[in-house]
Amino acid sequence: MTRATVCLTIDFDAVSPWLHAREFGSTPVKRSRGRFGADVGAPRLLDLFERLDVPSTWFVPGHTIDSFPEPCQRAVDAGHEIGHHGWSHTPPSDYESRAAERADIARGIESIEDLTGSAPAGYRSPSWDFSAHTVSLLKEFGFEWSSSGMAREFEPYELTEEYAPVDDPYEVGEPVEITEMPVSWQRDDYPALAFSGSRAFADEAAVFDHWRRQFDWMYEHHAGGAYVLTLHPQVSGRSPRPAMLRELIEHMAAKPDVDFATVSDALAGMG
Ligand SMILES: [Zn+2]
Repeated sequence: MTRATVCLTIDFDAVSPWLHAREFGSTPVKRSRGRFGADVGAPRLLDLFERLDVPSTWFVPGHTIDSFPEPCQRAVDAGHEIGHHGWSHTPPSDYESRAAERADIARGIESIEDLTGSAPAGYRSPSWDFSAHTVSLLKEFGFEWSSSGMAREFEPYELTEEYAPVDDPYEVGEPVEITEMPVSWQRDDYPALAFSGSRAFADEAAVFDHWRRQFDWMYEHHAGGAYVLTLHPQVSGRSPRPAMLRELIEHMAAKPDVDFATVSDALAGMG
């Protein structure tokens, strides 16, 4: 029996989020952080996963696929899964209308189809947020799963159309036949390790230790759980983080009955 499943998930944003930079707008130096992710960070992570022989799921905006095709192709050729992450990496609540959000999702699917030859099974929303229309759009486009929500910690759950007015009790609503593979800001490199505005980054060793302790907790207390770690090439691809990531993966792999899987394979195995 699999005691723990590890899903290494990579949000390969590259330049796309910097085109929406709210503070001072999009600038060459902001965009250079994204270029680092595409030119240096992504190859470093791909090298690491190849050396350790572990699968992963890459959530790639169409903008990244169309701007930096080489590392995207390399991820596909190495057998990593490609998930949807918008075309333009617009946070869903920023779209002016359902039609605008729908068009961006459709364009993102086209970019992935051009890259892999098939439509993606999974979606991860940019900035981990949904608009009032996102769930119905995911349903319309036939996505099988999403990986953007936080209603559970280590177990998949059903996505629903919620009822959430401010002046009435909250209702979870009916399942829409899309499985949610939960994420956590606690297991995302960006808030902890990326410089943002006036916020300094955290102590790297403490962050990797935190991730290790979370895995150990799940392994001990939540048999059969899925541990989703979210990494950005422009954050975790910077030195010396690939080496620290290697130690973390080796720590997890050394325990009995631990599987590393793409999100699609993890869900198939847990279903
Ligand atoms: Zn992203």
